[in-house]
Amino acid sequence: MVECVIDGCGEEAVREVDRSYLPAIQSLKLKLRGDPGKKIPLCRKHYKMVKQARESRF
Ligand SMILES: [Zn+2]
Repeated sequence: MVECVIDGCGEEAVREVDRSYLPAIQSLKLKLRGDPGKKIPLCRKHYKMVKQARESRF
């Protein structure tokens, strides 16, 4: 399985997002474990949070 890359999480990742999501991740004060590559795996919970944060910026 692929783990969610958010520091302290460790849930199974259900989605991968690209780096355009990084500002949304940072706006939520979430930290990544290390430097992600082009794809950032996220669990269901964090994907929802990040997606909402991203959409609310527009
Ligand atoms: Zn997570």
